[in-house]
Amino acid sequence: MTQIPLSSPDITQHEIDAVTQVLRSQTLSLGPKLPEFEQRLAKVAGRRYCVAVNSGTSALHLAVRAMGIGTGDRVVTTPFSFIASANCILMEGATPVFVDVDPEDYNIDVDAVACAIEDGEKRGEPIRAVLGVDVFGRPADWPALESLARRHSLRLIEDSCEAIGATLGGRPAGNFGELGAFAFYPNKQMTTGEGGALVTDDEELVHLAQSMRNQGRDDGMGWLAHGRLGFNYRLSDIQCALGLAQLDRLPGFLAKRSAVAAMYATHLGDLDEIHLPLPLEGGELSWFVYVVRLADRFGQSDRDRLIQGLRDRGIGSNAYFPSIHLQPFYAKSFGFDRGSFPICESISDRTFALPFHNNLSEEDVRTVASALKQLLRSR
Ligand SMILES: *Cc1c(COP(=O)(O)O)cnc(C)c1O
Repeated sequence: MTQIPLSSPDITQHEIDAVTQVLRSQTLSLGPKLPEFEQRLAKVAGRRYCVAVNSGTSALHLAVRAMGIGTGDRVVTTPFSFIASANCILMEGATPVFVDVDPEDYNIDVDAVACAIEDGEKRGEPIRAVLGVDVFGRPADWPALESLARRHSLRLIEDSCEAIGATLGGRPAGNFGELGAFAFYPNKQMTTGEGGALVTDDEELVHLAQSMRNQGRDDGMGWLAHGRLGFNYRLSDIQCALGLAQLDRLPGFLAKRSAVAAMYATHLGDLDEIHLPLPLEGGELSWFVYVVRLADRFGQSDRDRLIQGLRDRGIGSNAYFPSIHLQPFYAKSFGFDRGSFPICESISDRTFALPFHNNLSEEDVRTVASALKQLLRSR
């Protein structure tokens, strides 16, 4: 039976050579590849600085912590995301304030953000920060979020872990807000195995993040001197070399992914049972996953049966994303229930990801499309 995986990294001899070179050099961490990788990433995001770390989650955690967001602080964010974008707020003892999302592009609803800010001011529980997410490689409405943040003096974080290489209004993903975060797990557009990075123009945030990723050490301090609470969030030179090799090929990756998305649009365009991802006005998507949504007349059980049907045919598929507020830990801790964020829930019930990676062939896309059509017809 054909096996078509949900995602796949794109590793060639170029990456193998780059990693091998570091292994031969014997400098496996805190060597020359780290600053080289950071400089290249800063450029991709149009930022002055970058701090590379061992995961996207670590980048987000350091962002929250370096901004001094902590106990008692309230941070507006989206419930339609990967769990880490909300967890990073909890890690510092702050409170995520979820608001609902746009029903078509799935990103945080800026009007709902504005309401939450005003509501907080009225009730004497002001919002301290906004953490927006570029869901599935599509930049959120950052110009609007930036103007809200300016007007209300809020900190602003861009979780761009799914959007490296995207643009909006001529600005690259990672360039919005005070600080952007990238991630390099193997299912992302580019990978370091595990890894992440924060990008910013703020020297103070960089200084704190560099220290906190390295056990609280400061410049000029010895290996066993620690100026503040820190973590081991370092990214090895082996991983940085892998990342540099992937960055060489990133423009090609993004072009291939756009081409695969276009193939899906061709082969699925005539199905009125599913909604395809919308084009992005005023910018360029960076395709992370290919997520489609069943029409409103379908329910969660139809979606789950489709996913199972695809898997039974050797085709990778998954529900993307389950609502964060309905994850057992969040529902229990905060008392969320079905109905708390109805648009997010309605999207979560009907969306699913199809196989998507750089080297997916037109034949693979045809196989996925015909399996989907069969399953939809046989319900
Ligand atoms: C992948 C991802 C992260 C970070 O993931 P790590 O696995 O920790 O690298 C954070 N936020 C979003 C939205 C993501 O998709």
